[in-house]
Amino acid sequence: MSAVAMLQKASLSHLKDPRLFREYSYSAGHWIAASNGDSVDVTNPADGSRVGCVPALQAAQVEEAIDAAHAAFPAWAARLPQERSDILKAWHSLIMDAREDLAQLMVQEQGKPISEARGEIDYAASFVEFYAEEAKRLNVESVTSHLPDAEMLISREPAGVAALITPWNFPSAMLTRKAAAALAAGCTVVAHPSSETPFSALALAELAERAGFPAGVFNVLTGHAPEVVGAMTASRKVRVVSFTGSTEIGRLLYQQSAPTVKKLVMELGGHAPFIAFADCDFGHAVDMAVAAKFATSGQDCLAANRFYIERRIYERFVEAFAARVEVMRVGPGSTDPDIGPLMNESAVAKQQGHVMDALEKGARLVTGGGFHSAGPLFYRPTVLADVAETALLFREETFGPVAGFAPFDSEEEVLARANDTETGLVAYLHTRDPGRIARFSRRLEFGMVAVNRTKITGAPIPFGGIKQAGLGREGSCMGMEDYTNVKYVCRDIR
Ligand code: NAP
Repeated sequence: MSAVAMLQKASLSHLKDPRLFREYSYSAGHWIAASNGDSVDVTNPADGSRVGCVPALQAAQVEEAIDAAHAAFPAWAARLPQERSDILKAWHSLIMDAREDLAQLMVQEQGKPISEARGEIDYAASFVEFYAEEAKRLNVESVTSHLPDAEMLISREPAGVAALITPWNFPSAMLTRKAAAALAAGCTVVAHPSSETPFSALALAELAERAGFPAGVFNVLTGHAPEVVGAMTASRKVRVVSFTGSTEIGRLLYQQSAPTVKKLVMELGGHAPFIAFADCDFGHAVDMAVAAKFATSGQDCLAANRFYIERRIYERFVEAFAARVEVMRVGPGSTDPDIGPLMNESAVAKQQGHVMDALEKGARLVTGGGFHSAGPLFYRPTVLADVAETALLFREETFGPVAGFAPFDSEEEVLARANDTETGLVAYLHTRDPGRIARFSRRLEFGMVAVNRTKITGAPIPFGGIKQAGLGREGSCMGMEDYTNVKYVCRDIR
């Protein structure tokens, strides 16, 4: 074993509960390896060291897990909601008890700063707690009849087996946001976590087993996505596909789900505009702009990608923002920096590509630009001013610590520029004018609008985008809807 690998194993052996580190898939209540012995290596983005490996399951093994989830479905769906709620509550308290271990594991495979990882565990657990309560509120409604001698009832029934496909940037929260809603509704689950960060999901499976989910109800299946997810979308037994990830893969899964007409939930990419008018609370708006860009080292679907600042305060705003960026600490997540490593080489190359393209199209480099000495996957937090509307930075999701600014002169102009995107996930607005807040809240073409603040997420809110940012909503009572079918019953009561 190399020195780096030994260090890695040593850091995982510091887990208070080493059984949370699982190098197997979880299927039908068993921890399994790939039938042909294949595996996928997982590396720590901070230093390239090997964290471990997980099975590269074969399609036939995925079909077996789907069969188990399908077989477990009727009994799980028939449980009293209170019983499902009790198991979800037990899962929630096990997650919170294991908070520190889960956060440490996440830093190893994902690289994010440890305090952000702890925050993600709290966020992940909050969905489990929320849906433990919502499980009890899938009420039957009665409709005022328009027909004589008829009684009309509308109920929601669990849809069946749900396939959950999650990304690497929030490896715990994106899974629980889906799984807690699906399980509360009475669905059973087959989940595929990103191959770059599977250990967080496998630790959650270990805790789910301890919480008392029956065999087959919750399965975590690792391996090459085309094979594993392909078997899920091809299966007639899978009724719901809930995906969080890039718009490109979302389109592919949409197509793959068409032949079997599955219900779809899609949480896809973002390209958030951040708009600040001259009447904003200046210092607060600058702080909020920094928060909107650099959380998760910029690898966040809610990350602001385009900063539009009213011309009267533009230069001052860019300067104040850059001053905060210049003092940011960059380093491995374990040292709790402001900016950690990016996920992989292509993410780093994308930052450099967006910076070079913006400069070629006339942008001005204010600070940063280029690779960081902390390691091959670190990029310097960067600020570019006077970015052209045609620059890649203003057209594509950058997903890293590069911020681009441009001035604007009027409401109509900035609204048109902000709305000129297919990825309508979130928009940020800073102004003190109540009329403008009302106009922009209505006219911004995004699923979520943050006014004079950055943090807006949490279990009780309907998270989601419009246009090519996705379909459906996660969180809130709406987050359970896609895991249910509406049943209308009309009874003759003569
Ligand atoms: P990604 O490449 O689309 O991967 C997401 C998931 O899809 C992973 O589990 C991945 O598995 C799987 N996948 C990849 N290729 C596939 C294929 N050919 N067939 C079936 N499945 C496939 O996205 P990512 O890079 O992990 O995540 C970043 C993206 O997620 C960004 O665009 C971000 O905006 C978006 N995101 C959106 C939200 C939201 O709520 N709207 C939240 C977080 C992230 P493997 O890793 O095993 O390949």
